[in-house]
Amino acid sequence: MEYQLLKKPELGKKIEFKNDKISIPDNPIIPFIEGDGIGPDIWKATKSVIDSAVKKAYSGEKSIEWFKIHAGLSALKKYGNDDILPEDTLKAIKEFKVAIKGPLTTPVGKFDYVCLECSKEQDGINGKRPEKCIKCGSKFITPRFRSLNVGLRQKLDLYACVRPVRWYQGVPTPVKAPEKLDVIIFRENTEDVYAGIEFQKDSEDAIKLIEFLKNNLKKDIRRDSGIGIKPISVTCTKRLIRKAIDYAIQKNKPSVTLVHKGNIMKFTEGAFRDWGYELAISEYREEIITEQELWDEHNGKMPQGKILIKDRIADQTFQQVLLRPEEYSVFATPNLNGDYLSDACAAQVGGLGLAPGANIGDEMALFEATHGTAPKYTGMDMVNPSSLILSGVMMLQHLGWNEAADLIELALEKTISNKTVTYDLERQMKGATKLKTSEFGEKIIENM
Ligand code: NAP
Repeated sequence: MEYQLLKKPELGKKIEFKNDKISIPDNPIIPFIEGDGIGPDIWKATKSVIDSAVKKAYSGEKSIEWFKIHAGLSALKKYGNDDILPEDTLKAIKEFKVAIKGPLTTPVGKFDYVCLECSKEQDGINGKRPEKCIKCGSKFITPRFRSLNVGLRQKLDLYACVRPVRWYQGVPTPVKAPEKLDVIIFRENTEDVYAGIEFQKDSEDAIKLIEFLKNNLKKDIRRDSGIGIKPISVTCTKRLIRKAIDYAIQKNKPSVTLVHKGNIMKFTEGAFRDWGYELAISEYREEIITEQELWDEHNGKMPQGKILIKDRIADQTFQQVLLRPEEYSVFATPNLNGDYLSDACAAQVGGLGLAPGANIGDEMALFEATHGTAPKYTGMDMVNPSSLILSGVMMLQHLGWNEAADLIELALEKTISNKTVTYDLERQMKGATKLKTSEFGEKIIENM
């Protein structure tokens, strides 16, 4: 593949797919995006932790050839022309299949421009782009854009957002028994109210749609409404739930729970549940039983070696993860429910700043820190790199390099339970030692 401004590493081989199976060389080329704001600090620590673990686990027989690619601020610096998600970047992820990224700036306000250095948003001056940021003076001002993260997910069709949530010894939490929650959430990433089909109140399209619904389908919507459309398809539902069940089989997990609001939204959320059961029964008959079958045919006693497929209403799920967390293992959810549930579960184990994530498609996977760019800490070597490091752990597991993944996870847990932590955890722990981002990374390596 030809690149406009990127130079591929000279060493290393491609990860490939043969007969639907991933094939991993001993020295895969893996593209990485450092990210904006605190991205470079946390990436530096993450890279040295991953490299040290791989070296230690495989005595130098395996290694990663890192390939720097760009999005956000670093893309603007390299490519100019407001090109914050260059074609090169998409090509590299498509070619090498597995990539990892730090956080990227996503403006949410009503302003026309955003500074990629400090995230300050502002309007144009006399209808033109401001020459520099009114807050930090940077010249890297770019027009408002839809989320880069959403752009990456959609352009690469990374349809499953995967978020494992478990407690690490020593992390301060708001609940009494955080160790009881150990779940992984598979959230649909491409449709639902997040598909971006929205019409502003009073816009020509909103009015057209309101009139169409009234005249043709006899549905009344208040004239002064903004409108969002919520598509949920059988195709996207089934491919997401298939990923969740495959994961449960591969990792010997006891259950997969479909989370939905089907009691109210029958043809979207309710259909998600129905299509989920349909898929489980038609494609995984030997491996699964449904909760209905468990009671009708097995008197509530789980037969050995089977995975239980159950469903829960979304609001009830939020109660259940607090009250009976040990009954849940793998969740499959539509986009919006999954967004809420991932953060609620992460908060429960005290780990919003530690929560790792991945966006996975049929062949490609992009691993990422789940927090933002925390612009006020840019370049201060201060923040917690754990979210990106644990996303690196997920990446190593995806490669099947479990020995290296385990080394990191255990060493990170040891580092936190020894109370040698970055500022965010130090302020919540009595008697802890505050470390810089780089020092925290070094401690993890020392503890491997
Ligand atoms: P944020 O960057 O996540 O930061 C909010 C606060 O969370 C920080 O001020 C800090 O709290 C804490 N925090 C975040 N990451 C931390 C870390 N690694 N270590 C320690 N503390 C950490 O959220 P935001 O300020 O709402 O968003 C800033 C920018 O990031 C926006 O442009 C947003 O769109 C973008 N964003 C990107 C992603 C992504 O790329 N995946 C995700 C979310 C947001 P204290 O100051 O209280 O210590």
